[in-house]
Amino acid sequence: MSIAAFPKRLHERLRCNEPLSPHTTLRVGGPAEYYVEATSLRDVADTVHAARELGLPLHVLGGGSNLLIADEGVKGVVLCLHGMKSINVFGSKVQVQAGANLSTLVNRCSAEGLAGPQTLAGIPGTVGGALAMNAGGRYGEIADYVERVIWINPEGELQSLYREEIKFAYRISELRHGVVIEAVLQGTVGDRKALIAHARDILQQKLAAQPYSEFSAGCAFKNPMGQSAGKIIDLAGCKGLRVGGAQVSDRHGNFIINTGEARAAEVIELMRQVTQRVFEAHGIELQPEVQVWPRRGLQAA
Ligand SMILES: Cc1cc2nc3c(=O)[nH]c(=O)nc-3n(C[C@H](O)[C@H](O)[C@H](O)COP(=O)(O)OP(=O)(O)OC[C@H]3O[C@@H](n4cnc5c(N)ncnc54)[C@H](O)[C@@H]3O)c2cc1C
Repeated sequence: MSIAAFPKRLHERLRCNEPLSPHTTLRVGGPAEYYVEATSLRDVADTVHAARELGLPLHVLGGGSNLLIADEGVKGVVLCLHGMKSINVFGSKVQVQAGANLSTLVNRCSAEGLAGPQTLAGIPGTVGGALAMNAGGRYGEIADYVERVIWINPEGELQSLYREEIKFAYRISELRHGVVIEAVLQGTVGDRKALIAHARDILQQKLAAQPYSEFSAGCAFKNPMGQSAGKIIDLAGCKGLRVGGAQVSDRHGNFIINTGEARAAEVIELMRQVTQRVFEAHGIELQPEVQVWPRRGLQAA
């Protein structure tokens, strides 16, 4: 199938065989068969419609900070919303498009005296990805601030959902089955200087504990109920464990890093070995947090 099969107005936004590895923080994985960079709701709607008409799977790419893309790449259409990133703070609320960078959102909220999203400081990626993954940490998660979300649902319909209509769980939400377009987040009014300091403090804590300057997809595994995945991975003797260019970080056991030339297959094999060792040592079956494209056995629920 060629680009000609897509509606004409999408052609200038569409590329074939786009390498995806540079679009991810782990820097592994093959190309997307088709890649669309949307700059408007119309682009998104046209892309969703075209993928459905052509019978192609659709994947939504945010900042690629929680993704493990297979070496053979991804069939179908990869849709990216980086061109949709407006942020409007009004009092205790902020209206933000899915392609906005989460850190930019946190900084804008702090600078404009909106308290709440500072708890998400230091989490890479986009607002769309954060909503799809219910990103968060020890101080809170994005679901805590959601008032409503506009998305294209899995049936291809544009829909506005209030917080109570959306299923959020630990590091996952149903929104990843559709395309998040924008959201309104609700916080409270706060003191700008204090908010900037608070966000900086949380960022510093993350920088001190995690291998931020390395290529990774963040936490490879979800924390099992009441336990730290990083700790039990360390206790199972996995720190520094290596398969090819993929390595369990020396700084944080739950981070798998690409030391330079890793392939996705090596990361997947390393995750398998870690899962096995942890099961043997603790009887706990780790669940991946990282999203694998295309879906395969190793996949977050
Ligand atoms: C160094 C480092 C530290 C990290 N620390 C944390 C942390 O503290 N807490 C935490 O929760 N995560 C953390 N992560 C993981 C990651 O940053 C989050 O999961 C982030 O929210 C993913 O956003 P993204 O835009 O990069 O999404 P991507 O990785 O691009 O995509 C992740 C999933 O979201 C879906 N998605 C993306 N955009 C949309 C959209 N618009 N509509 C629907 N679905 C969409 C994708 O299809 C995919 O299923 C960390 C990652 C790194 C590399």
